[in-house]
Amino acid sequence: PSFSELGLDPRLVQAVAKQSFEKPTLVQRKAIPLALDGQDVLCKAKTGSGKTAAYVLPALSTILKRKATNPTPFTAALVLVPTRELADQVYKTIEQFSAFCTKDIQVAKLTENVSDAVLRSLLANVPDIVVATPARAWHSVNSSALSLDKLQHLILDEADLVLSYGYDEDMENISRSLPKGVQTIMMSATLSAELETLKGILCRNPTLLDL
Ligand code: AMP
Repeated sequence: PSFSELGLDPRLVQAVAKQSFEKPTLVQRKAIPLALDGQDVLCKAKTGSGKTAAYVLPALSTILKRKATNPTPFTAALVLVPTRELADQVYKTIEQFSAFCTKDIQVAKLTENVSDAVLRSLLANVPDIVVATPARAWHSVNSSALSLDKLQHLILDEADLVLSYGYDEDMENISRSLPKGVQTIMMSATLSAELETLKGILCRNPTLLDL
């Protein structure tokens, strides 16, 4: 299938075309339909596979669809990443894909270098999507700056590194703050025992994409 056949919002297809992506990569072809269908997914994918677009596009599409009937802003997606560098990349990717729907999509990036004051002002705008390290995300929830009450998508990128970097306690705290029925998408370069631990923390039984 082409990008326009995957069921994504036309504004996203337009943004994809602007970046001269000719056709979806394997991980995008496999993961996007499952994610749009609301399923939980655990996907073996490394950097360079197109994994970022594979989870960003369906999340954006679902948010845009909901906003057409319910424009009230709330944080609908939380993307957790192990490093500040990856947070920068993911944030940039989300901005590129929302080039044709900038009014409908607000995104905030929370990493260790963001001060409490800046964090509060970023979250006061009620971003649709938050990209954060687990520590900064939990700090924001714990200090009531970020509400996950209406969260719909929890995404873990480089999930294998999230635990090996020692974020397990933050993950447990965050998982306790999630409402019922959140869709969980995990991207991981390896499918190790750590992934089983994460699955245990998140209490999910995702569709496995071992590509
Ligand atoms: P990622 O695996 O998400 O880190 O993406 C690796 C690189 O591939 C990024 O620079 C993307 O811009 C690029 N990319 C992602 N999807 C596609 C695609 N379908 N066609 C061409 N390039 C892509």
